[in-house]
Amino acid sequence: MSFDPTPLRWIELDLPHPEDPERKLTLKTDGPFALRKWYRFPDSDEKIELHVDLRTPKGGLLGCLACGHKELFTRKVFNVTLGISIVVVAAILVLVLPQPMSYIALAVAALLDFILYHVGKEEVACYACDAVHRGFDKTPKHPRFDRTIAERIKFGEKAVMGSPMRKGGTADAPEPEH
Ligand SMILES: [Zn+2]
Repeated sequence: MSFDPTPLRWIELDLPHPEDPERKLTLKTDGPFALRKWYRFPDSDEKIELHVDLRTPKGGLLGCLACGHKELFTRKVFNVTLGISIVVVAAILVLVLPQPMSYIALAVAALLDFILYHVGKEEVACYACDAVHRGFDKTPKHPRFDRTIAERIKFGEKAVMGSPMRKGGTADAPEPEH
């Protein structure tokens, strides 16, 4: 009997719908290498080609798999439902608990939300097409959101605060200073 010890390692890719950019289609596969090159959107004749050549041999990202743009940013995935639930529970406790205890409940809620945010998962989003990548290897690292990049992509030459694109895009770029 043979046994494959490699665990499932989910990746998710949120792709903008070709006809309706407000809609996203989430592709979920067992790891970055299970992604195919071509997909067809449900209820659309458009075929989309993924830029699978922008994957590193370890499953990291050199650019956006959806559009091929080389500038991406990393952001935290905050569990909004859980975060709000904690605040709601704390608010109820404040009403029912006597004075010193209610302050403690508030402090605990703030601490829980802080922890939730900081240990939360991260996702990598594309400046150009808004596609979101989850579960890919963390190297090369794409820094957090930089508004000078976003501005250049939005306004092009007319961008007042735009910064030129770094060679190789945002892969292993330093964090923005502002
Ligand atoms: Zn993109």
